[in-house]
Parts: sequence; structure tokens; C-alpha cells
Amino acid sequence: MKAVAVLPGSHEVKVIEQEVPRLCEPDQVTMRMLDIGICGTDKEICSFEYGTPPPGDDHLVIGHESLAEIVQVGPAVEHFQPGDLVVPSVRRPCPHPGCLSCRSEHQDYCYTGDFSERGIKEAHGYMAEYAVDHERYMNLVPADLREIAVLAEPLTIAEKALAQIFWMMQNRPPWLDPQTPRQESGRGLSALVLGIGPVGLLGAMTLATAGFTTYVYSRELPPNPRIDLVAGIGATYVSSQSAAFGDLAAQIGNIDLVYEAVGHSHFALQALQVLGTNGIFVLTGVPGLQAFIEADPARLMRDMVLKNQVLLGTVNAGPEDFAASLRDLDSFRQRWPAVVSTLIAGRYPAEQAAELILGRPTGIKSVITFELAGPRRSGGRHRPGPAGGRRR
Ligand SMILES: [Zn+2]
Ligand SMILES: [Zn+2]
Repeated sequence: MKAVAVLPGSHEVKVIEQEVPRLCEPDQVTMRMLDIGICGTDKEICSFEYGTPPPGDDHLVIGHESLAEIVQVGPAVEHFQPGDLVVPSVRRPCPHPGCLSCRSEHQDYCYTGDFSERGIKEAHGYMAEYAVDHERYMNLVPADLREIAVLAEPLTIAEKALAQIFWMMQNRPPWLDPQTPRQESGRGLSALVLGIGPVGLLGAMTLATAGFTTYVYSRELPPNPRIDLVAGIGATYVSSQSAAFGDLAAQIGNIDLVYEAVGHSHFALQALQVLGTNGIFVLTGVPGLQAFIEADPARLMRDMVLKNQVLLGTVNAGPEDFAASLRDLDSFRQRWPAVVSTLIAGRYPAEQAAELILGRPTGIKSVITFELAGPRRSGGRHRPGPAGGRRR
């Protein structure tokens, strides 16, 4: 089968031929990969700044945002059957018995750092025709989300952040009702999203769905399809080329939430200075090597204490965040059908993966699919698995 891999030793990104993976434990499933999204993490891996092959391998199969069809199940699989659509999670637990987070299936909170991540760190990813993994890492996708479910994984970033801040928001100020339904938990509050990439836009959609008055702030100027998307969900776009952070704060009033999705330290620091009273600042971007910046930590500390502020970093994601993500994709689809139809910029064959990953992003999310590669094999949607029913 084909797979897209990086070879750090020879600095190559290319389509390779590999053995089709086989089920080797009874609770595993074989997935036929349908859609694999590409993102900034893939760009860093393909620029050899990030990413680690599995121990003993000279290459790493990339791809962590995916949608697959189950084509084969092991004898101990209980909840899935061939034909089911799934989004597999990415992070796998560390081996340490004392890591309480990994031992309770919350490796997104791993204490040791010895976790692996499919397509990123010490485990091959999903940009391949087939993949095998344990049932417990699968998230069932309703069939009517087929076109957009590849966005579920990047959306879990916002879902996990919001799950944490809803708890904080509703349990800190006593005038907020802890029984408020999730769809209204942002009512009366304002949110500022930094960045207009897929993580920022999906974050803005989640915040708008939760009732926040949502603003998106980034460098880009119109015309730009990403700016059109912001308008399409009823949020307000402001370009940093036309308004400084101070003007923005004057326009918004008390900024209750900042959702940072850029990974730029200077930009984030400026935004922290306009965070409102009782505000929560969520960091999701992972900065690479950046220029050293000067800061006034005394001012930041003073503000954080005197304004009851929270600074929260978050990395995705647990099983409940995947479930929330799939629920929200369904609400996005019903609420903004025209916008949702623009989220996937295009589907491309594996041979184009390297140029798409390393080139300038076009549209919102580009997707690799093996469905376009060569003549379609016979058998339709429920074709038998690659191992021909063999199982151990
Ligand atoms: Zn990603
Ligand atoms: Zn751990």
C-alpha cells in the first residue's frame, strides 16, 4: 500500500510502498483511510523541525487528522463493525504505571511526556491506505458527517479548551448559573480569537455556537475566504493591519475570553494585556523558535491578580472531546450549511501531499485521499479488508 512518509536522515518527504498492516491483537480494527487533513504540525514535521519516527525506523508515516472506514474487526471488538466510519484519536498512553492520567485513558494530560502520537511522535500516522489500532481509540462518526468528519480532530482543540473553561467560568463568578446549558454558556460574554487558520476558525465556530459574541483578530486583509467565513458565522473580523490591540479592546469592552491559535509569543503577550476582568486566556498555539521579546512581568502579574485572570494552556484531546467535536460538527452543519460547505478546500492524491504541506495553505483545510490514487478498486464501500478476513 501507499503511505506518505518523512525520512529525517535523508531530509525527504515522499510516497512510500509499505506492507498492509495486519490485526495482531483481538481488540484491534483495520481502517481504510478515507480523508487525512494536513495542518501546521505536518508542515513542521516535513520541515524536519519536529516529529520522531518509531524506535528503529528511519521514517515516520505522517498524518494525524483523519477519517476512516472500518474494514475488519478482531474477535474481541465489541462496539464497531465493518462499514462504520471512525475518527481515531492521536495520542497513545505512556508505559509508566504511576502516570494516573494515562492509566485513566487521559493521555492528553500525561505527566511523563513518554506518550507517543500517531503521525507525530514515535508512531506511524494515518496518511496511508490502511491503518490498524485498538478499538478503544476509535470514535464513531455518524454517516451524515462523512464530508466533514476529518475536521473532528482539529476541532477537539477547541472542545477540550471549552470543556475546561466552561467549568471555570461557571464555578468562579457566583452570578453565573452552573446549570446553564452548554449552548448558552457564552451568553452575555465576549470572546476574542487570535488567528484565522483552521484552529482559530474552528474555535470561533465553537465559541459562536456556545453563545459568545465572537471576534477574530489576525493579520490578513479582505478579500479572503477565511474572513468571509468569520462573517458567515455571525462573528466580527478585525485585521491587525487596521486596528491595534488597544482599539480592539475599546471596541469589544470587557474581553472575557481570549482563544489564542497563532503560536506567536509577541502577539499572545500583547493580547494578554487587553484581557478583561475575570478573563480567561487560552493558549493553543505551539511556538517554534522565535525572536526574543521583552515583557513587563510585573504588569502581567498585577493584572492577573487584581483582575482574577486565568492563563490556560491546553493540548488535545480526550474521548469526551472527540464526542463533543462530532456533536458540534453536526450543529455547524445544520446552523451554517453554506459555511460548512467551504471548510474543505479540496481533496488531493497522496502524490501532492508534500507540495500541499510545504506550500502556502489554500482555502481552509486541504485533505489527502487515497480514493483518487489510481483506478478505484472494486467492491464498493463495504469491500473486504486488506487481510482478506485473516485474523489472529
Ligand atoms: Zn493537526
Ligand atoms: Zn503518561
